[in-house]
Amino acid sequence: MREIPYLLTYPKPVLALIAYLLTVVAVGIFGFRSYQLFKKISAGQADPSRFLNKRKRFTNMLREVLTHTKMLNFTGTGIAHWFVMVGFVSLLGTLVTAYGQLINPDFALPIIGHFIGYELFAELIAWLTGIGIVTLIAIRQVTRFKKPARSSRFYGSGNKKAYYVEATILAVVFCVIALRGLEGALAGVTSWNWHYALSYPAVVAFNSLSTNQIENLIQIMAFTKIFISMLWFIVIGLNLTMGVAWHRFLAFFNLFFKRNPTSENALGPLPEMMSHGAPINFEDPKEDDVFGIGTAADISWKGLLDMSTCTECGRCQSQCPAWHTEKPLSPKLLIMAMRDHALAKLPADKPIEAKIVGNAHENAISLDVLWSCTTCGACVEECPVDIEHVDHIVNMRRFQVLVESEFPTELGNTFRNLEKAGNPWGANRADRDAWISEVDFPITKIESVIPEDVEYLFWVGCAGAYEERAKKTTKAVAELLYMSGVKFGVLGKRETCSGDPARRSGNEFLYQILSRENIETLQETFGTRGVKKVVVTCPHCFTTIGRDYKQQGFELQMVHHTQLLNQLVKEGRLKPVAKSEKKLTYHDPCYLGRHNQIYQPPRELLESAGIEITEMPRNQERSFCCGAGGGRMWMEEKIGTRINLNRVDEAIATGAEEVAVGCPFCRVMVSDGMVARESSVEVLDVAQALLRSVKPQA
Ligand code: SF4
Ligand code: SF4
Repeated sequence: MREIPYLLTYPKPVLALIAYLLTVVAVGIFGFRSYQLFKKISAGQADPSRFLNKRKRFTNMLREVLTHTKMLNFTGTGIAHWFVMVGFVSLLGTLVTAYGQLINPDFALPIIGHFIGYELFAELIAWLTGIGIVTLIAIRQVTRFKKPARSSRFYGSGNKKAYYVEATILAVVFCVIALRGLEGALAGVTSWNWHYALSYPAVVAFNSLSTNQIENLIQIMAFTKIFISMLWFIVIGLNLTMGVAWHRFLAFFNLFFKRNPTSENALGPLPEMMSHGAPINFEDPKEDDVFGIGTAADISWKGLLDMSTCTECGRCQSQCPAWHTEKPLSPKLLIMAMRDHALAKLPADKPIEAKIVGNAHENAISLDVLWSCTTCGACVEECPVDIEHVDHIVNMRRFQVLVESEFPTELGNTFRNLEKAGNPWGANRADRDAWISEVDFPITKIESVIPEDVEYLFWVGCAGAYEERAKKTTKAVAELLYMSGVKFGVLGKRETCSGDPARRSGNEFLYQILSRENIETLQETFGTRGVKKVVVTCPHCFTTIGRDYKQQGFELQMVHHTQLLNQLVKEGRLKPVAKSEKKLTYHDPCYLGRHNQIYQPPRELLESAGIEITEMPRNQERSFCCGAGGGRMWMEEKIGTRINLNRVDEAIATGAEEVAVGCPFCRVMVSDGMVARESSVEVLDVAQALLRSVKPQA
């Protein structure tokens, strides 16, 4: 029995008062700043599509959060993070208990407070959160020391902010376990029991103290726990750019509003150019249309949410081919720079004048950063909170090209070639079907409507028609289709560039012209045919014609040649007979793999030809770009080392005698890389590997 009412014992009431006042201040600051952040994000451009398919979005968000799908790409980090995330929510009850303990050390939550299940759960989660955060701290430190400077994924992240967050979690976990020990000591526990199953060592540590000492310690520990927690709310409230903390609240929304309502990543087709929430009509644009991202005011609210959610974990940076070859572009640093710039400017009463892209010293994003991107999608694939880097980069390119007319000079030539000749090399339109004269079997040229008996339109593409190495792929595919009895035809001179180089480098206007021309040709060709089957060797054409054109209401049934040939082998219509003894590695093209998830058909095809693939360390989802995407094929690579050399070094290191590819751009880049390395490793398309097995004398 206490002689003096507990509340009146000095200094306990003072601590309780401070804790309650601090809580009011912290909740006030956090609430007000959350509202301000909401206003800043809401000031972005409209994007109504993000509100469609709410049920699917919710299900997918829950799945991604609970199973930590992408987090587990970095397995150790993913598991550790999962427990820290669960701990953040689950240990809320211990915070409420601490408020009660400030007044009464015996306090426990009503109903569940002394329920063994709850106590065991809280203690287990506390320990696992502690182990989780220690693991994350260790991973950060080991990464820092083992991978110095740029090679660390944490390079450029706000590491001090991360240390603060980590220290807070560690301290809170310490308080939770210490409080459990003190509670056990106060309850007079002298032997292990289920109520204190995981905190019994702490109970033992405090058992020798007097009741008064234990009560005082409970109050001090409860105060410390509340103080640390409330300080954290104040600190993050005052730092809206502290994504390492804010993602705890924003990640759910970012996952819910991601580009696709399903688990599909934000790659493949490029989103239409939107202005005020609707696609721009390029034939009759409005006075106030927004063309891409020029200033903070042009970023959509989802873009702003992306940027605010970035945890600065650097997974994207760790996979970026530009960053790995000493270029200034890091997808993480780009998102952080856009965030810092945009959150400082928004919301705004007057039009914002500060441009995002420009000079490295004055603007958030330099031109070298912007134009270094190959749109390979490795960043998007890796990001655990589904940030849409490629879309933001291309939107900034759109503004640079369409409004500022500021882009690498080489691209100017490419744009002119596309306009005049319908191909990026500026080769003669009349030579587009010249390859046909180089084969010794008949090829159907479709002059107007596709004949009834022709099942597939073979879209050859610019590289397949003009580039000497890619032409070998075209001819191999045509021969294999001919041998299998598949009826196919080509458009010959009626083809023009799909528009991929124009679109991915920001020239949406030119893309619209090229795509409209192709859609008209394809509509005329297929006439009233229901299922329009097209086979293509170029993953860039595959993506643009097969997926981007849908935005203009035109749909095809598109297959990549590796898919169709694989199917023909499985059906027995192509019979590989000769087995290659050469050691071979396969390079996953970004636009076939990450952008379209086609990983197995080329591998199965190579295996069907008796080839045992020696994989490169970076394969499938983590394949390393060849350096040609996003229009980079037609730009000089002046900064850092060459991306294709980085890739061929990896291929050579496997000891392979051959590298198989499934993309004409990759073929050019990998071949050039092998030449530069004076390597004898041969580069060939998967189709050629199949052809020599089906027709050994080839
Ligand atoms: S798309 Fe590829 S090159 Fe561009 S930022 Fe992302 S990882 Fe880097
Ligand atoms: S963009 Fe995504 S992957 Fe990159 S640092 Fe931010 S959260 Fe991590």
